[in-house]
Amino acid sequence: AKEAGRDAVRFYDPQIQSRVQARASLERDLRHALERGQFELHYQAQVQGGRITGAEALLRWHHPVQGYVAPTRFIALAEQTGLIVGIGDWVLRSACAQLALWAGDPLLAPLTLAVNISPRQFSQSDFAAQVLAALAGSGANARRLELELTEGLLLQDVEDTIAKMMQLKAYGLDFSLDDFGTGYSSLSYLKRLPLDQLKIDQSFVRDVLLDPNDAAIARTIVALGHSLGLRVIAEGVETVAQRDFLRQHGCEAWQGYLFSKPVPLAQFEALVRAGA
Ligand code: C2E
Ligand code: CA
Ligand code: CA
Ligand code: CA
Repeated sequence: AKEAGRDAVRFYDPQIQSRVQARASLERDLRHALERGQFELHYQAQVQGGRITGAEALLRWHHPVQGYVAPTRFIALAEQTGLIVGIGDWVLRSACAQLALWAGDPLLAPLTLAVNISPRQFSQSDFAAQVLAALAGSGANARRLELELTEGLLLQDVEDTIAKMMQLKAYGLDFSLDDFGTGYSSLSYLKRLPLDQLKIDQSFVRDVLLDPNDAAIARTIVALGHSLGLRVIAEGVETVAQRDFLRQHGCEAWQGYLFSKPVPLAQFEALVRAGA
């Protein structure tokens, strides 16, 4: 009776019903998006010492009817349904293929490419093998590949996480902790994980000049990262004043609209050539 009651509520509330239907239809479409070739990577510049030193690959879904669907609308759904595993593998293989192409061009060869890895994807027992297969299949140099992990990953077995990271680091790839400060990480994990870089989340960067608490957090993340021997990159940098503030406090790498939005491949490559 309880089940029927719940169904009845759902059925008679047109707003909830349409939301449930919209989600179900998005999920249906997401199941076919890979085989239909609807995904694309965009590239957002990462800047250090006044030069573009690399990019972050950001996933874009071109839905045939809805047009462009933002990752914030479908990544969580992909994570919940497990579809992220196949999608994430496509992202990895595409990114490695791109790195291999860049290797043939002296201007592009030094670039690093960062790929977002979801906790569910990382938790697969064959995750490291998938990454190594993507590298081997493309011929990409592992030293140019960075993997961005989030703190959500720390809800999993930490020993297993460390083992996977060490296995991959042996090939020379780097790990960044994304959205640092917004999740669950405890400082003792931070000390144990074999990380190379922290990313200051854009929520702290946005008001860094207006909100003394955000300024304090941003400064503390830079100092903490450096004292642990990690590089620190700020994301969501939109203004010269934000960059200057962070630079003044020791941050040396940047990503954000001030330098470039995420753009299609050709545009990103043109940006690199223009800066050279
Ligand atoms: P993220 O990894 O934190 O990526 C940064 C997001 O901030 C991107 O949003 C980027 O477009 C946006 N951004 C960059 N600079 C600025 C700025 O100056 N101002 C503002 N307001 N925003 C800026 P996007 O591309 O919509 O991606 C959203 C999230 O979706 C990503 O957040 C990431 O968590 C997830 N995502 C994207 N691609 C992938 C993927 O291939 N795999 C996985 N697992 N997640 C992905
Ligand atoms: Ca990221
Ligand atoms: Ca981030
Ligand atoms: Ca973020």
